Order: sequence, then C-alpha cells, then structure tokens
Amino acid sequence: MSIGGLLDAVEDRGFGRALGLRAGDRLLSVNGHELRDVIDLQFYGAESHVTAEVDRNGVRLHLAGERAEGQSWGLVFQEPLFDGLRTCANRCPFCFVSGLPPGLRPSLSVRDDDYRLSFLSGSFVTLTNLDESDWQRLAEQRLSPLHVSVQATDPSVRRRLLGGAPIPDICEQLARLGRLGIVVEAQVVVCPGLNDGAVLQRTVADLWSLRDTVQSVALVPVGLTRYQAARLRPVTSDLARELLAFASDWRRLALRRTGRRFLYPADELYLLAGEPVPGAAAYDGYPQLANGVGLVRRFLDAWAVQRRCLLRRARPQSRIARVALVTGVAMAPLLADIASALEAWSGVSVRVVAVENHFLGERITVAGLLTGGDVVEQAQSAPDELIVLPGVMFDAEGGRTLDGWRQEDLEEALGRPIAIAGTPADVIHILVGQGHV
Ligand code: SF4
Repeated sequence: MSIGGLLDAVEDRGFGRALGLRAGDRLLSVNGHELRDVIDLQFYGAESHVTAEVDRNGVRLHLAGERAEGQSWGLVFQEPLFDGLRTCANRCPFCFVSGLPPGLRPSLSVRDDDYRLSFLSGSFVTLTNLDESDWQRLAEQRLSPLHVSVQATDPSVRRRLLGGAPIPDICEQLARLGRLGIVVEAQVVVCPGLNDGAVLQRTVADLWSLRDTVQSVALVPVGLTRYQAARLRPVTSDLARELLAFASDWRRLALRRTGRRFLYPADELYLLAGEPVPGAAAYDGYPQLANGVGLVRRFLDAWAVQRRCLLRRARPQSRIARVALVTGVAMAPLLADIASALEAWSGVSVRVVAVENHFLGERITVAGLLTGGDVVEQAQSAPDELIVLPGVMFDAEGGRTLDGWRQEDLEEALGRPIAIAGTPADVIHILVGQGHV
C-alpha cells in the first residue's frame, strides 16, 4: 500500500495548486506510480498530462490536469522521503555520530546512509546497503551525482573501516554507477594508521582510474571526539603536511591531464598544517563545497571584497565600545587579520575569542560544533563588550546549538544581548547597524 507524501504547503502558482492539491493532503501516486519520495514525484510527474491519487482526510481523490512545460509542482512536503530514511548498517570505528554524547537533539543521532538523500542534498553514503531494486531504480532514474564515502578501495581495509561486516567491492560499484551514467563525488576520511600511507596511495590511484565516473575526491581528516570508543589516532600537523604534499602531486598530475585537480584536501588539513588555503581557481568550481571543502577560501574571498568596500566607507558612528568575535580554535588565526582591519576602520575595539571545545574534546576545533555551554564558560567579558557568535553553531531548523542553547538562553546566561554573524559582511552590518540603533 502506498504511503505517499504529506503536504505541508501548496504554493499559489505551482502546478500542484492548479491540480487541486491542498496542504494536509497525502499525495499517494502520480501517473500510476506510487510515490516513495520527492524524487519519484519529479521523475513520474514530469509528463504534461498528469493524473494523481490523493488521500484527503481519509477520502481517496483522483485528480487530473495538464502541466505546462517547465512548470514546477510548487509543493512542500513534510519529509522528502515518504517511506522513511534508510539508516546505516555499518559500524565505522571513527563514526562521528557514535562519538557524540547521549542526550543531544535526536536529529544528531541519526546515522543515515540513504542514496536518495545523497542525490537530493549531497550527504555521503557508503553504498553498502543497496539491493538489486535500488540498482534498478538508479538505472531507471539515473540519480546523479551521488556522494560516496570510499575511505579505502582495498576491500579488506574498507571492510575493517566500515565495521567488519561483508560489503561489496567499492570499485565494482563505482564502475557500475558509471555504466548507468551516474557520476560520483567521493570522499576519503583519513584515519592515521588505517587508511593513510600505501592504502591511501592505492585508493587515490584506483579512484583516478575511475575518473570518468569519480569527478572529485575530498581528503578529510578524521574528527575525533572525547566520547569515541575506538582508540584512533588524530591527524597531526605533520601528517596534515604529508597529506597535502601527497595531494599536491596528484593535483598537478590531474590538472595536466584533465584540466581539473581531482583531489581536494579539506580546509582542516590546511589549517592543521599551518599552510594557506589555495586560491579560488584551485577549487575548480568547488565540487565538494557541500562537504565543507573550500569554505575557508570562500570566506576569505568574501572578506577581501568587504575590505575593499570598507576603504570607500566612512567610519561609522558606532555606539559599541568593544566587540568579541567568537569562533572555534581552527579559524581564530584567520579571523585575527579581519578583526584588526575592522578595528582600524570602525574605531571599535575588536578581538577574537577562540573557544575550545570542552564539550566534545579539544580535537574538535571547528566553529560549527561549538556549544552554548563552552561559549558561556569561555566568552565572559566586560558587560559593554558585544559578543558576536558564528551563525554555523546554531542549527537551521530550531536555531539551537549542539547542546540545545538558543540565542535568548545565551543572552540570559551572559547577561547581555548577543549578535550572530555568518560572514564578515554580517559583522560590518552589526558594527554599522548597532551604531544607528
Ligand atoms: S557510514 Fe560509518 S561513519 Fe557514516 S554513519 Fe554509518 S557508521 Fe557512521
């Protein structure tokens, strides 16, 4: 029996409204095909003549209409996957989700491994849970690109890295995707002693040999919290430098042969190694941006644009005496330059506060995983200092930090209003905007 998708909203100008759909309806099938998710709707609902079966308050309706070419359906579903999320059957020793403490918001403990989400939103999947019906669907709908966590191409190493259960050969799976016309953005999470060194060399060489299918490979250092049960080694600064040197050889070769660099080290590797991130051109259009690769370069380039604009803007009459820009340990050195330039322009004292992650452990240094508790503990300062927090530490849905704090909770605990910024432009806006309050 079809489950269908529950409609949260139906946009005014969309085809769904013209067809007669309403918020609260459950769209069961389109053109005779039961809907498993929004991908099915896009695929089977692409025809000009459309029939649909709907459950409205327990009553079955049959609708029909003509869709203009290119007209969007204009539907907002409660969930994009109507038949539920495919969760992960692996037991990776480095799994970040398993390395989180209990009691966090439920969405953080979901270990998804659903190729449909990989297609829809760029999440990484291992392909270990595909059955023949999934392959048939991939062939029929050609869901491309997919984002695949490879970790290692050596079958026994990959099996160990994914928890030890029997798994299909990843190179054969990638080649099969290629035959279906599906391309892949891959990642390798580097776990020192497990898949670096010779294993990594083989992995990159194997993926390079599949480069018609594998468009890019991100090299990501393993992120270890203090709750991780398995004893794993972190990527050190020295290893980060080795990995960058290794990647640089491949990147040169790939650029010469294909005009693109193929292998893209994660921003954290540059920060760990103390090396500058490459210029924008070296990211070849940022194929791994959803994986965070290139965010630092984008941030720095956005700042360079703002900096040029500042030179043309008059110093604001700011009422703020002092500003504290809060960030994680990794980004703090890069923010120091920005803080001094803002200070010189605005006349407001601007300092950077690097908050250590006591909640997850000191190896977690990114701003996106900062917690409210750590900020309250470490960002206390004079009451006339405006505290500016990075927007990435709040989740998009509920505006809460990893440990559940909202902006107002933090303001209460810190005893003052706080501001939230995602970009250097936001900080400038805060300096200027606050000056005119
Ligand atoms: S594939 Fe591995 S790392 Fe990813 S969710 Fe599953 S167990 Fe965790």
